[in-house]
Amino acid sequence: MSQRTKIKALLQLEETGFEVTVKGWVRTFRNNQFIALNDGSTNNNLQIVVALDSLDEDTLKRITTGAAISVTGEVVPSLGKGQKVEVKAKTLQILGDCDPTTYPIQPKKHSLEFLRDNAHLRFRTNTFGAVFRVRNTLAFAVHKFFNERGFVYLHTPVITASDAEGAGEMFRVTTLDAVKPPLNDEGHVDFKQDFFGKATNLTVSGQLEGELGAMALSDIYTFGPTFRAENSNTTRHLAEFWMIEPEMAFCDLTENMDTAEALLKYVIAYALEHNAEDIEFLTQRLLEEEKQKPQQDRSELNLLEKLQFCLGNDFVRLTYTEAIDILKDSSHNKKKKFQYLIEGWGTDLQSEHERYLVEKHFKKPVILTDYPKEIKAFYMRQNEDGKTVRAMDILFPGIGEIVGGSQREERLDKLEQRMNEMGIPTEELWWYLDTRRFGACEHAGFGLGFERLVLFVTGMGNIRDVIPFPRAPKTAEF
Ligand code: ATP
Ligand code: MN
Repeated sequence: MSQRTKIKALLQLEETGFEVTVKGWVRTFRNNQFIALNDGSTNNNLQIVVALDSLDEDTLKRITTGAAISVTGEVVPSLGKGQKVEVKAKTLQILGDCDPTTYPIQPKKHSLEFLRDNAHLRFRTNTFGAVFRVRNTLAFAVHKFFNERGFVYLHTPVITASDAEGAGEMFRVTTLDAVKPPLNDEGHVDFKQDFFGKATNLTVSGQLEGELGAMALSDIYTFGPTFRAENSNTTRHLAEFWMIEPEMAFCDLTENMDTAEALLKYVIAYALEHNAEDIEFLTQRLLEEEKQKPQQDRSELNLLEKLQFCLGNDFVRLTYTEAIDILKDSSHNKKKKFQYLIEGWGTDLQSEHERYLVEKHFKKPVILTDYPKEIKAFYMRQNEDGKTVRAMDILFPGIGEIVGGSQREERLDKLEQRMNEMGIPTEELWWYLDTRRFGACEHAGFGLGFERLVLFVTGMGNIRDVIPFPRAPKTAEF
C-alpha cells in the first residue's frame, strides 16, 4: 500500500500484518517512542511506535505537538491499552515543523474562550473536531431528507433589495464611496448611482423568493447563509448564520409542522447513526463541564439521552393562547421568577418563557401555533378570529426557538391589506404579489436555523462554537 490511508479507515479495519502510509498532525510524543497521530478523520488517535535509535537525533527533536508528519510502517496488534492496532514506523518524515514554544494548542485542556480567539487552530482539538464532523453530517442529512422527498434545492440570492421580514437589521451592500457618497436633490444618498441602481442588502431570509419557486416546483428548500445585523450578544444569535427554508405548495399549517418535526428527527437520527463516536465524546465533554455547576443547574438527561428522547416522543402542539394561560398561572410567574412577567395575551414570548414551557412544564419539544398577528410577519395567513395568524414556532430544550414558520396568506386582498397596515411597500414587492394574482394556492414553509440545530446535537453552549468562523458584533477575525 503506497497511498495514504486515513486513520478512521485503518482503525475500523482492525487487521494487522500489512504496510501503510499515514499522514497527520502529532498530538503527543511520549518517551521518545510513542506518537499519538491525528488526521481529523476521527477523534481517535493512531499510535505510532518509533523504534529506539531508528531515527536520528534531529528528526526526533522535530516530532513535536502540532507537527505534520508522514509515516510508513507495518500495522501490528497493539500491546498498549486503548487501541487494537498500532503502526510500527519504518520511515518517518517531518512534513511541517511546529515550534512548541509558540504553538498555542498545547496537549492540555484549553477554555472555549481561548479557542475562540484561536479559531484558526481550534479545529485541531478533540472538541472542535467532533463538532465540525457532526455539523457536516447534519448538513448532508438535511439534503438527503429533502432529496428523498422530491424537494428542489433552490438557490435564492444573497444580495437583495427587499427586507423579507420588514424587521430592518440588514447589512447594506454598496459600491458607493463610504466617506463621500453622492447625494440626490433632497440631500439623501443617491442609490440610483449605486451598483444595482437601488439600495441593496444582504439577505435576512430566502423565503419570499422561495415562495416563487414553490408556486411552480411544488416543494423547494433553500440552505444558505443569512445575515442579520441584530446587535444581540447572545449565545443563540450570529450576524451570519445558515438557514434551511423549505416552502411547500398545497400545504397547510399541520402538514408544515409534520414536515418540520420529521426533518428534525431524521437529521438527529442520522447524526446518531453516523457520528456515534463524536456524539459519545461530546456527551462526556458535557458531563465534565456540568460537574462545575451546582446540582440543580445540571441537566437531568445527558446529551445522548436527550437526543434519543427527542426522537422517541411526539412534539407537544398547542396554541400561543394556551401557552399564555399555562405561563400566567405558573408558580414561576406568580413567584415573579421570570424577568419579564406574563401579564396577559398579546406580548411576544421571551426565551425564558419558551424554555420554561419546554424544560419545566412539558419536558418535551413544543410547537406553538396561532400567534397574535401583531408580533408576526405580514405574510402569515390570517385566522378567522381576526386576531391571530397561522404561525408555528418549534421550541427545543436548552435552545428556545429552533424553527419559525407559517402557512402563508395566499389571498391577495388580505395580504395587501396587512401590508398596508404594517407599512410594507406593495409596489416594491410587486413580484411577490404576482404569485397571488396568478394561480395562488394554499402554501406553507418554515426556517430552521442550522447553527441552533448543531448546538442542540453537539450539546455546545455557545452558537459561536458551532460555526467555523463566527460573525457577531465586533467579531470578524479570520
Ligand atoms: P429569535 O427570536 O430567536 O431571534 P427569529 O424569530 O428572529 O428568532 P426567524 O426570523 O423566524 O427567527 O428565523 C428562523 C430561524 O432562524 C429561527 O427559528 C432560528 O433558528 C434561526 N435564527 C434567527 N435569527 C438567528 C440568528 N441571529 N443567529 C442564528 N440563528 C438565527
Ligand atoms: Mn431574531
